[in-house]
Amino acid sequence: MSPAGVYRVEHLHQPSGWLSPGYLEVDADGYIATVDQDPPHGGSVTHLAGLGVPSASNLHSHAFQRALVGLSECASIADAEDTFWTWRKVMYDFVARIDPAQYQAIAAMVYTDMLKHGITAVGEFHYVHHDTSGCPYADRAEMSKRLVAAAEQTGLAITLLPVFYASGGIGRPPQESQKRFVHAEPDRFLELVAGLSALSDGRPDLVIGVALHSLRAVPTDGLAAVVAGVRDIASDTPIHIHVAEQPREVEECLASLGARPIRWLLDNANVGADWTLIHATHCDENECRDMAASGAVVGLCPATEASLGDGIFPLVAYQGAGGHWGIGTDSNYTTSVAEELRVLEYGQRLIHGRRNLLTAPGDETTEHTGRRLFDLALAGGTRSLAQPMGALTPSKRADLVMLDSESPTLLGHGPRTGLDAWILGGTVNPVRDVMVGGRWVVRDGRHDSEDIIIAAYKETMADLVAA
Ligand SMILES: [Zn+2]
Repeated sequence: MSPAGVYRVEHLHQPSGWLSPGYLEVDADGYIATVDQDPPHGGSVTHLAGLGVPSASNLHSHAFQRALVGLSECASIADAEDTFWTWRKVMYDFVARIDPAQYQAIAAMVYTDMLKHGITAVGEFHYVHHDTSGCPYADRAEMSKRLVAAAEQTGLAITLLPVFYASGGIGRPPQESQKRFVHAEPDRFLELVAGLSALSDGRPDLVIGVALHSLRAVPTDGLAAVVAGVRDIASDTPIHIHVAEQPREVEECLASLGARPIRWLLDNANVGADWTLIHATHCDENECRDMAASGAVVGLCPATEASLGDGIFPLVAYQGAGGHWGIGTDSNYTTSVAEELRVLEYGQRLIHGRRNLLTAPGDETTEHTGRRLFDLALAGGTRSLAQPMGALTPSKRADLVMLDSESPTLLGHGPRTGLDAWILGGTVNPVRDVMVGGRWVVRDGRHDSEDIIIAAYKETMADLVAA
């Protein structure tokens, strides 16, 4: 059935403000044809009450880590200090036993949750390539295809980022616990990327990018080979990398490569607007300025960074330098972009002792923190994932999120303060309906397939946690 239709949205988010009401026309391919304050001539019109906003891009996810939530919050006798590195051990033990069907079941659950919170595209940073013994599956893309299948099952658009992973630290061989992630040769990895790229032909909801795990896990010659190889496949492929998440990583990089990790990348990897630097938590003033000038997107994952004790990114300075950034849910402790933005803003308030740090008075789109954070993350997320979304304007995919004005979170709020109420305070999720490519996938807060997806996830969790 064609997704074509005309919608009268009570309050419609626009790059320059709001249309109240706004008429949104969707074409037969699921793209926005027109947006206007008057209805197009002829045809029926569907009325949508509430605030209509663009959907969010979630630029960094490891879907399987959703299943780990709540399983690493206990003091350990073996590790006197519980840190990112002890959490990583728990994650490695867990990932060692996940089979393809379980991998898909977890991803379908977390993708459903994302949709229900107004996210319609995910950047999946995918490194679990091989079977539990570390051998490639008969179809080398088995696990990648499971993520694509989970996205299809839920209606989420995906920018799949297969990860190149080759070492267990700078200059060190991979550990046994990393065997499911490793490609010894860049060429084998590039074959995987080329195969997946063929899969995405003619599919606007599936973008194939590439990820370099980190400077810890990718030797410098491997990094150069993968970037060159990817540029041969497609010149504009999004490239993502974890960088400077932990102080120990900065120290190791300084000792081995003679530069801090962000500095090394900026000086050696031709970082530009098609790069996304995930975390970039530990960056000095010069790195901050040069990263902004490079045009790259910084992928901030505030809830995960807080959970892991990573540190706080210098967002005020970076924003001041004109830097681009977006939001990722990373280990999926939460799948709410609103909650991620809240943690981000409150972290900045705590370190600076000030409020509303990113706002600019005098313009309705920049003077409110909720709207300001939402719009900035929208722009960065769209650039990072290379998906045709990020604004409710003609030629973008018709990805629309309706916020319910009758939700306790939004009662008493219109467009002027609605995003402030949602992002900075609300505890009840006000996302009522979510459209992807002109089709409703969430209606009245429910996903069409959620009963089946929850049942499969329940079975998977029972098996994995019991093991
Ligand atoms: Zn990550």
